[in-house]
Amino acid sequence: MTDLHSTSRPSADEAMKKDAECVFQLWARQPVVLKKGRGARVWDVDGKEYIDCVAGIAVNNLGHCHPKVVAAIQEQAATLMHTSNLYYTDLQPALAEKLTQISGMDRAFFANSGAEVMEAALKLARKATGKKGFIAAEHCFHGRTMGALSITHKEKYRKPFEPLVAGASFVPYGDAESLGKEITADTAAVVLEPVQGEGGVHVPPLEYLREVREICDRTGTLLIFDEIQTCMGRTGKWFGKDHSGVQPDIMCIAKGIAGGFPMSALVATESVATKFAKGDHSTTFGGNPLACAAALATIQAMEEEHLVERSAEMGEYMRGQLRDHCRQDFVSEVRGLGLMIGVQLKRDGNALVDKAREKGVLINCTADTVLRLVPPFVITKDEVDRVVEVVGQLRY
Ligand SMILES: *Cc1c(COP(=O)(O)O)cnc(C)c1O
Repeated sequence: MTDLHSTSRPSADEAMKKDAECVFQLWARQPVVLKKGRGARVWDVDGKEYIDCVAGIAVNNLGHCHPKVVAAIQEQAATLMHTSNLYYTDLQPALAEKLTQISGMDRAFFANSGAEVMEAALKLARKATGKKGFIAAEHCFHGRTMGALSITHKEKYRKPFEPLVAGASFVPYGDAESLGKEITADTAAVVLEPVQGEGGVHVPPLEYLREVREICDRTGTLLIFDEIQTCMGRTGKWFGKDHSGVQPDIMCIAKGIAGGFPMSALVATESVATKFAKGDHSTTFGGNPLACAAALATIQAMEEEHLVERSAEMGEYMRGQLRDHCRQDFVSEVRGLGLMIGVQLKRDGNALVDKAREKGVLINCTADTVLRLVPPFVITKDEVDRVVEVVGQLRY
């Protein structure tokens, strides 16, 4: 059992000092050392409690340490953790069948992170079409590996690593007409987030994805949805695409898929998936029994506890409460779908993150002026009310 006040582990200051000395310094980390989590709450090494509206960046949808996921991981870890893809297991097809059912797609490939399945998606699109180009949206985020970075918009992320993979261009998000004009005879695929996450929680007009689907069909261009953040109920439906009813040709799934265990999936239609021939792509760890068991338990718990519906209901409630309680002199809009919520500020919000944390609420600020709230779906109404109280009282 975890002992919150164990003396055998370093203090917060010691851990942060050691991190500064020997871990790559890639993040503006919050000065808090987390130790334990349950439901929508986490505790730091000093025993201070927080309501977690970051959820490991929209990952811990079931809350921290969901007992069914913990049990599945413990049992599978003691049975068989890893096999490589040189052998079959019964867990991988079981998970693939479940995922294709809930997504309406035909085949799945498993990997370990969001960027990894984005890489696979780009390779698959080129292989399936024989074309090279990609069109993505301004302010999009698709990951940090070379391919995923090539279709990520932010100049600051891209510039130091050029030359990137050739053939990417960007069009305004939510504007199907501009996208249509950008497609050429060499465009392999259009890549879109159904709701932009890191870019600031931007929900496009409902008809946008439908219009993009029509344009892609007319021009023989593949449509890739990056559902890495919007997947698994985050927007109040299983997938962000489900709000519009549009089916992509290829879809990337990651963050919430396995209750916090690192895993990702690429799902595609039969005609596209089968364009990958043996040897075209691979992974050593991807789809291993431990990750599959975690994902299967996660999906089962979501179904049994009606957590997708809960994300929709709690999201609606939370947005309404935030609209009622946030001061209009510094919040211009509260937007989102399900429990993927953006509070648009009139100026930089990074300092507010510290103030919320001091009051026991973890939130994240993205695109400098958007407070992103993506709590676990098991967050209670009382916890939501407390978060709204804290966010509503934030002052510069
Ligand atoms: C988080 C995220 C990624 C990258 O996922 P990693 O697991 O960090 O590689 C890609 N696309 C979207 C939309 C994301 O939110």
